[in-house]
Amino acid sequence: MSGFDFDLFVIGAGSGGVRAGRIAAGLGARVAVAEDRYMGGTCVNVGCVPKKLFVYGSHFAEDFEDARGYGWTVGESQFDWPTLRDNKTREIERLNGIYRSMLNNAGVSLLEGRARIVDAHTVEVDGQRYRTERILIATGGWPFVPEIPGKDHVISSNEIFYLETFPKDVLVVGGGYIAVEFAGILSGLGAKTRLLYRGELFLRGFDQEVREVLKEEMNNSHNLELCFNTDVVSIERRDDGRLQVALNSGESLVVDQVLYATGRVPHTHDLGLENVKVELTAKGAIKVDDHFQTSEPSIYAVGDVIDRMQLTPVALAEGMALARYLYDSQPIAMDYDNIATAVFSQPNIGTVGLSEEQALERFGKLRIYTSRFRHMKNTLSGRQGRTFMKLVVDDATDRVVGCHMIGSDAGEIIQGIAIAIKAGATKAIFDSTIGIHPTAAEEFVTLRDITRTVEA
Ligand code: FAD
Ligand code: NDP
Repeated sequence: MSGFDFDLFVIGAGSGGVRAGRIAAGLGARVAVAEDRYMGGTCVNVGCVPKKLFVYGSHFAEDFEDARGYGWTVGESQFDWPTLRDNKTREIERLNGIYRSMLNNAGVSLLEGRARIVDAHTVEVDGQRYRTERILIATGGWPFVPEIPGKDHVISSNEIFYLETFPKDVLVVGGGYIAVEFAGILSGLGAKTRLLYRGELFLRGFDQEVREVLKEEMNNSHNLELCFNTDVVSIERRDDGRLQVALNSGESLVVDQVLYATGRVPHTHDLGLENVKVELTAKGAIKVDDHFQTSEPSIYAVGDVIDRMQLTPVALAEGMALARYLYDSQPIAMDYDNIATAVFSQPNIGTVGLSEEQALERFGKLRIYTSRFRHMKNTLSGRQGRTFMKLVVDDATDRVVGCHMIGSDAGEIIQGIAIAIKAGATKAIFDSTIGIHPTAAEEFVTLRDITRTVEA
């Protein structure tokens, strides 16, 4: 025997850790997983899953309005926050149980407590030390809030899912995924919402035209105001419990809640990294090589803590690739190109491949195809919003190198198209594909007129 209690000790039962632990155990490794907060990690508890349930919940206001044009008389509607919050929490608790039994059934030893690395082969949980051949750090990320006077008064995405009372008036600070998604959720559920972003336009890094179209579409939303080129200077709690927010524009706002969504940082606090040779990047992420190995040979890391792409399917894929590499001698098959993603803003963004700006840097000449049209459902409902679609084509090879959409179910549609893009589909293949009628998605295979040609 090896003299170790475990072959693999995983710290963190989130997307990456659970997947790696389960696969490794299935391949015969003796695995422990330590978790100090919640089974399933960020995605299940305070991320993707509860967020998407809230997105569904927030859409009903619009659906009730749209129903009228289709002949429905809808009575007075009212939203009850405790019902949504508590039904969501029950569903999350059900998922926590599923994660627990998934690990138990795979033969993984689950240790519920905070793990600290003692040395390259020892981890401590609640005073008990375990010897292990390898350690996998899968501790995820944690919300970052900049240092401003009154920082203690703000909430992050961790708290928003459990609020005691629903705010009437809320300020969302940030211009990334979480800020844009929660601006839609909170305004849809009836809060007067302001989205405040320090730069010119939110969603930096996404296709410029997509960002501009989303801004136009979100400007049509009820209860929502977008404020760019603005930042918070300080926040004070007033005697009536509300928050007074001073902005760098000189303006002052009074709101019930301030939600900060200004990024997430790798969660390495009090992990015992000072006891080993693990190196960090300038942004505090754990540095790993192509095999997810840190500078301490027995220690590996996957998921948000390595900060390659903070997405659940990426953490899952990394965890699986590592387990198969370590315990089934398979080469690491992680490909970070053409990873599709959706922003569950209202309307949704779905995107895969390169933005027009990125594609232009890589290829000499591009053909751009765009379409903006009224969704058929909006004809009878009278709703103003329009769907936007865009294909970015490398002129030399005819390959579709980027595909972007704003509109209902954009994430669902782009997931299918991502397969074609990954397979290297050309525009000619898109054109030879017969559409499904009547759908919005068929527009992607009927875009014939070049909107513009751009050259580097
Ligand atoms: P995590 O899921 O964060 O898991 C890490 C786990 O480690 C946690 O459970 C933590 O408690 C535990 N842990 C940390 N330190 C210790 C310790 N010392 N001892 C024991 N346990 C420890 N991604 C998408 O793809 N789609 C989405 O729609 C989406 N929506 C999101 C919405 C929000 C509001 C947020 C915050 C994130 C969202 N994400 C989404 C991102 C996604 O949640 C993360 O990319 C994913 O959860 C990363 O998985 P992970 O395994 O790296 O870390
Ligand atoms: P993001 O990195 O997406 O966005 C952070 C935002 O905060 C940016 O607009 C950034 O501005 C701004 N910001 C950063 N620092 C400051 C500061 N000091 N003051 C003011 N503004 C600041 O982070 P999120 O928190 O939105 O989400 C974290 C990650 O979680 C995402 O990147 C994504 O990977 C994942 N996620 C995925 C979702 C999905 O798949 N649908 C949903 C939610 C989260 P600037 O651009 O100017 O730097």
